Amino acid sequence: MPNLQRYEQKIRKYKEKLKNLITRIGISYPKEFELIDEVSEKLILPCQLGILFFGDFDIIYFEKIKNHLNHVFDSFFFDIKNLGEYNFTSEIFSKGVKKEYKEMKKSSNKIKIHPTNKFYQILIDERIKKNLGMIIAITNLPIYSSTDDNVLFLYGEAHLKHRCAVISSFELKENYYNTPENHSIFAKRVIKEICHEVGHLILGPDHCHDNLCVMRFSNEINEIDKKSSRFCYKCNLKLNEIRKKFNF
Ligand SMILES: [Zn+2]
Ligand SMILES: [Zn+2]
Repeated sequence: MPNLQRYEQKIRKYKEKLKNLITRIGISYPKEFELIDEVSEKLILPCQLGILFFGDFDIIYFEKIKNHLNHVFDSFFFDIKNLGEYNFTSEIFSKGVKKEYKEMKKSSNKIKIHPTNKFYQILIDERIKKNLGMIIAITNLPIYSSTDDNVLFLYGEAHLKHRCAVISSFELKENYYNTPENHSIFAKRVIKEICHEVGHLILGPDHCHDNLCVMRFSNEINEIDKKSSRFCYKCNLKLNEIRKKFNF
């Protein structure tokens, strides 16, 4: 029986690979977003964090996000700023868009997904303009990784060098899985993914193996639901070391 399961898993993996290959044929990957960052020096802590909202996102969530970040990253941010809503121009909106099928949605329509670089340049400019230590984007748009265009429909991605991150709520919504809308579950998922990406900006690219730690890698929605929105003991120790290093 376990053998059969392993086999099924293998077949599923190959099917995924094949699907990616097929959908990629005929798509030329545009390298149109060369990132320009005039102030790319290292992160100094504590700092100011800015949150910019892209697309149709209920701004009410900001206070919840802010409270939780202040709680788990105690003393890391002397301010968390709501930078409001950002609207793409139609020209930028259509740049770098990939059209892909999404199996989970029972529709035959292709979904437009946006490269993470599209957000990064706007975030970098805003970070410099507002004199922020780091900045994150929250969007309801589906995203794919600019560094690896095989990685589609991401929950989030952090760019350590440019001190910015993008979190996509596209697959965090309850109705995406044909279950009734639930604001509390949605808020929890968004908060976990934000903590995770901000965690990368502070702790680096590594993931944690603790089942409940927010720094655990999640590939599927139930993996996000299973983990907590907090750091484990080990990750908290790492945060403490950073506090010591920067003397706060
Ligand atoms: Zn991660
Ligand atoms: Zn951990």
